[in-house]
Amino acid sequence: MNFFKLNELAIEFRSDIGINHSDPIDFFPLITNKLKNLTIAFLEMDDEISGACYKFDTQKIMFINSNHSKGRQRFTAAHEIYHLFYDNTPFTICNINSDDEIEKDADNFASFLLMPINALYNYKKDNNIEKWDLNLIIDCEQYYQISHESLIYRLKNNDEITFEEYISFKGDVKLNAHRRGYDSSLYEPYISKNYTLGNYVRLVEEAFEKELISNARKDEYLLDAFLDDLVYNMEDL
Ligand SMILES: [Zn+2]
Repeated sequence: MNFFKLNELAIEFRSDIGINHSDPIDFFPLITNKLKNLTIAFLEMDDEISGACYKFDTQKIMFINSNHSKGRQRFTAAHEIYHLFYDNTPFTICNINSDDEIEKDADNFASFLLMPINALYNYKKDNNIEKWDLNLIIDCEQYYQISHESLIYRLKNNDEITFEEYISFKGDVKLNAHRRGYDSSLYEPYISKNYTLGNYVRLVEEAFEKELISNARKDEYLLDAFLDDLVYNMEDL
Protein backbone atom coordinates (compact mmCIF):
# COMPACT_ATOMS: atom_id res chain seq x y z
CA MET A 1 0.00 0.00 0.00
CA ASN A 2 1.39 3.46 -0.76
CA PHE A 3 2.53 5.88 1.96
CA PHE A 4 -0.36 8.31 1.51
CA LYS A 5 -2.98 5.61 1.84
CA LEU A 6 -1.29 4.27 4.99
CA ASN A 7 -1.05 7.81 6.37
CA GLU A 8 -4.77 8.31 5.66
CA LEU A 9 -5.60 5.06 7.49
CA ALA A 10 -3.44 6.16 10.43
CA ILE A 11 -5.16 9.57 10.61
CA GLU A 12 -8.57 7.89 10.41
CA PHE A 13 -7.59 5.56 13.27
CA ARG A 14 -6.35 8.53 15.35
CA SER A 15 -9.60 10.35 14.75
CA ASP A 16 -11.63 7.23 15.71
CA ILE A 17 -9.90 7.23 19.10
CA GLY A 18 -10.27 11.00 19.52
CA ILE A 19 -6.75 12.18 18.65
CA ASN A 20 -6.07 14.97 16.14
CA HIS A 21 -3.45 14.52 13.45
CA SER A 22 -0.50 16.29 15.03
CA ASP A 23 -0.46 15.75 18.81
CA PRO A 24 1.95 13.29 20.45
CA ILE A 25 0.13 10.26 21.93
CA ASP A 26 0.62 8.59 25.30
CA PHE A 27 0.11 5.36 23.41
CA PHE A 28 -0.28 2.51 25.93
CA PRO A 29 -2.74 4.26 28.31
CA LEU A 30 -4.66 5.60 25.31
CA ILE A 31 -5.20 2.29 23.51
CA THR A 32 -5.94 0.55 26.83
CA ASN A 33 -8.65 3.13 27.45
CA LYS A 34 -10.10 3.44 23.93
CA LEU A 35 -9.89 -0.11 22.60
CA LYS A 36 -12.09 -1.95 25.07
CA ASN A 37 -11.51 -5.43 23.61
CA LEU A 38 -7.71 -5.13 23.46
CA THR A 39 -5.27 -7.02 25.69
CA ILE A 40 -1.57 -6.10 25.68
CA ALA A 41 0.79 -8.84 26.85
CA PHE A 42 4.45 -7.96 27.45
CA LEU A 43 6.60 -11.06 27.07
CA GLU A 44 10.28 -11.86 26.99
CA MET A 45 11.12 -12.75 23.37
CA ASP A 46 14.18 -13.14 21.20
CA ASP A 47 15.63 -9.78 20.26
CA GLU A 48 14.78 -10.05 16.54
CA ILE A 49 11.06 -10.53 17.28
CA SER A 50 9.30 -7.26 18.02
CA GLY A 51 5.89 -8.70 18.81
CA ALA A 52 2.90 -10.71 17.68
CA CYS A 53 -0.86 -10.49 17.60
CA TYR A 54 -3.89 -12.72 17.73
CA LYS A 55 -7.57 -12.04 17.20
CA PHE A 56 -10.59 -14.23 17.82
CA ASP A 57 -14.31 -13.39 18.09
CA THR A 58 -14.30 -9.77 19.21
CA GLN A 59 -11.08 -10.02 21.23
CA LYS A 60 -7.74 -8.65 20.10
CA ILE A 61 -4.42 -9.47 21.77
CA MET A 62 -1.02 -7.95 21.06
CA PHE A 63 2.26 -9.32 22.38
CA ILE A 64 5.17 -6.91 22.88
CA ASN A 65 8.83 -7.85 23.43
CA SER A 66 9.53 -6.83 27.03
CA ASN A 67 13.26 -6.47 26.34
CA HIS A 68 12.86 -3.62 23.86
CA SER A 69 12.96 0.11 24.58
CA LYS A 70 9.76 2.08 25.22
CA GLY A 71 10.17 3.79 21.84
CA ARG A 72 10.40 0.40 20.15
CA GLN A 73 7.54 -1.08 22.22
CA ARG A 74 5.26 1.83 21.26
CA PHE A 75 6.20 1.35 17.61
CA THR A 76 5.49 -2.40 17.87
CA ALA A 77 2.09 -1.73 19.48
CA ALA A 78 1.22 0.67 16.65
CA HIS A 79 2.46 -1.95 14.15
CA GLU A 80 0.24 -4.64 15.75
CA ILE A 81 -2.75 -2.26 15.50
CA TYR A 82 -2.33 -2.51 11.72
CA HIS A 83 -2.54 -6.33 11.83
CA LEU A 84 -5.44 -6.32 14.29
CA PHE A 85 -7.57 -3.81 12.38
CA TYR A 86 -6.52 -3.89 8.71
CA ASP A 87 -5.05 -7.34 8.05
CA ASN A 88 -7.19 -10.50 7.86
CA THR A 89 -4.58 -12.91 9.24
CA PRO A 90 -5.73 -14.11 12.69
CA PHE A 91 -2.23 -14.73 14.09
CA THR A 92 1.01 -12.99 13.12
CA ILE A 93 4.53 -13.05 14.53
CA CYS A 94 6.52 -9.94 13.64
CA ASN A 95 10.23 -10.01 12.98
CA ILE A 96 12.32 -6.86 12.91
CA ASN A 97 13.65 -6.12 9.40
CA SER A 98 11.23 -8.46 7.62
CA ASP A 99 10.96 -8.02 3.84
CA ASP A 100 7.33 -9.12 3.79
CA GLU A 101 5.03 -6.51 2.17
CA ILE A 102 2.44 -6.65 4.96
CA GLU A 103 5.18 -6.21 7.56
CA LYS A 104 6.45 -3.12 5.71
CA ASP A 105 2.91 -1.72 5.47
CA ALA A 106 2.43 -2.32 9.21
CA ASP A 107 5.75 -0.54 9.92
CA ASN A 108 4.83 2.48 7.81
CA PHE A 109 1.33 2.60 9.31
CA ALA A 110 2.90 2.52 12.79
CA SER A 111 5.25 5.37 11.92
CA PHE A 112 2.32 7.47 10.60
CA LEU A 113 0.06 6.53 13.51
CA LEU A 114 2.57 7.85 16.05
CA MET A 115 3.56 10.83 13.87
CA PRO A 116 1.44 11.49 10.73
CA ILE A 117 3.03 13.10 7.65
CA ASN A 118 1.51 16.49 8.51
CA ALA A 119 2.66 16.26 12.12
CA LEU A 120 6.29 15.93 11.02
CA TYR A 121 5.83 18.73 8.49
CA ASN A 122 4.33 21.05 11.12
CA TYR A 123 6.98 20.09 13.68
CA LYS A 124 9.70 21.09 11.20
CA LYS A 125 7.97 24.37 10.44
CA ASP A 126 7.26 25.25 14.08
CA ASN A 127 10.87 24.55 15.04
CA ASN A 128 12.41 26.22 11.96
CA ILE A 129 14.25 23.04 10.99
CA GLU A 130 16.04 23.24 7.66
CA LYS A 131 18.69 20.59 8.21
CA TRP A 132 18.38 17.76 10.73
CA ASP A 133 21.23 17.12 13.15
CA LEU A 134 21.40 14.71 16.11
CA ASN A 135 20.15 17.31 18.60
CA LEU A 136 17.10 18.16 16.49
CA ILE A 137 16.38 14.45 15.95
CA ILE A 138 16.52 13.76 19.70
CA ASP A 139 14.18 16.72 20.40
CA CYS A 140 11.70 15.38 17.84
CA GLU A 141 11.78 11.74 19.03
CA GLN A 142 11.30 12.93 22.61
CA TYR A 143 8.37 15.15 21.63
CA TYR A 144 6.60 12.32 19.77
CA GLN A 145 8.03 9.56 22.03
CA ILE A 146 9.04 7.52 19.00
CA SER A 147 12.08 5.29 18.73
CA HIS A 148 15.32 6.82 17.48
CA GLU A 149 15.62 4.12 14.83
CA SER A 150 12.12 4.69 13.43
CA LEU A 151 12.62 8.47 13.23
CA ILE A 152 15.95 8.33 11.42
CA TYR A 153 14.58 5.60 9.11
CA ARG A 154 11.62 7.85 8.28
CA LEU A 155 13.90 10.87 7.67
CA LYS A 156 16.09 8.77 5.38
CA ASN A 157 13.05 7.52 3.43
CA ASN A 158 11.84 11.13 3.08
CA ASP A 159 15.28 12.11 1.70
CA GLU A 160 15.64 14.53 4.59
CA ILE A 161 18.91 12.92 5.66
CA THR A 162 21.41 11.03 3.52
CA PHE A 163 22.21 7.33 3.94
CA GLU A 164 25.60 8.34 5.41
CA GLU A 165 23.88 10.60 7.95
CA TYR A 166 21.43 7.80 8.77
CA ILE A 167 24.35 5.49 9.56
CA SER A 168 26.12 8.17 11.60
CA PHE A 169 22.96 8.89 13.66
CA LYS A 170 22.44 5.19 14.50
CA GLY A 171 23.52 3.78 17.83
CA ASP A 172 22.91 4.44 21.48
CA VAL A 173 21.56 7.96 21.97
CA LYS A 174 20.80 7.74 25.68
CA LEU A 175 23.81 9.81 26.69
CA ASN A 176 23.08 12.42 24.04
CA ALA A 177 19.46 12.62 25.26
CA HIS A 178 20.75 13.19 28.82
CA ARG A 179 22.98 15.97 27.52
CA ARG A 180 19.87 17.62 26.06
CA GLY A 181 18.20 17.43 29.48
CA TYR A 182 15.91 14.46 28.79
CA ASP A 183 15.46 11.39 30.98
CA SER A 184 16.24 8.00 29.48
CA SER A 185 12.78 6.40 29.75
CA LEU A 186 12.24 6.40 25.97
CA TYR A 187 15.34 4.23 25.55
CA GLU A 188 14.39 1.74 28.26
CA PRO A 189 11.43 -0.70 28.30
CA TYR A 190 7.99 0.70 29.19
CA ILE A 191 7.39 -2.65 30.90
CA SER A 192 10.46 -4.85 31.22
CA LYS A 193 9.00 -8.17 32.36
CA ASN A 194 6.18 -10.59 31.53
CA TYR A 195 3.02 -8.61 32.28
CA THR A 196 -0.49 -7.99 30.97
CA LEU A 197 -2.55 -4.82 30.46
CA GLY A 198 -6.04 -4.24 29.12
CA ASN A 199 -9.16 -6.28 28.66
CA TYR A 200 -8.01 -9.66 30.01
CA VAL A 201 -7.49 -8.08 33.42
CA ARG A 202 -10.86 -6.32 33.26
CA LEU A 203 -12.64 -9.55 32.24
CA VAL A 204 -11.13 -11.58 35.09
CA GLU A 205 -12.01 -8.92 37.69
CA GLU A 206 -15.52 -8.60 36.26
CA ALA A 207 -16.10 -12.38 36.26
CA PHE A 208 -15.10 -12.45 39.94
CA GLU A 209 -17.32 -9.48 40.84
CA LYS A 210 -20.27 -11.18 39.14
CA GLU A 211 -19.44 -14.35 41.10
CA LEU A 212 -18.87 -16.33 37.91
CA ILE A 213 -15.48 -17.50 39.19
CA SER A 214 -14.10 -18.19 42.66
CA ASN A 215 -11.35 -16.16 44.30
CA ALA A 216 -8.92 -19.03 43.78
CA ARG A 217 -9.79 -19.24 40.07
CA LYS A 218 -9.40 -15.46 39.74
CA ASP A 219 -5.90 -15.66 41.25
CA GLU A 220 -5.07 -18.54 38.93
CA TYR A 221 -6.17 -16.52 35.87
CA LEU A 222 -4.22 -13.47 37.06
CA LEU A 223 -1.07 -15.51 37.69
CA ASP A 224 -1.44 -17.06 34.21
CA ALA A 225 -1.09 -13.52 32.88
CA PHE A 226 1.87 -12.70 35.19
CA LEU A 227 -0.24 -10.36 37.31
CA ASP A 228 1.39 -11.37 40.61
CA ASP A 229 1.04 -7.81 41.92
CA LEU A 230 -2.78 -8.07 41.75
CA VAL A 231 -2.80 -11.44 43.48
CA TYR A 232 -0.45 -10.35 46.24
CA ASN A 233 -1.62 -6.72 46.38
CA MET A 234 1.76 -5.23 45.56
CA GLU A 235 1.86 -1.53 44.67
CA ASP A 236 4.63 -1.49 42.06
CA LEU A 237 5.03 -3.37 38.81
ZN1 LIG B 1 3.87 -7.48 11.83
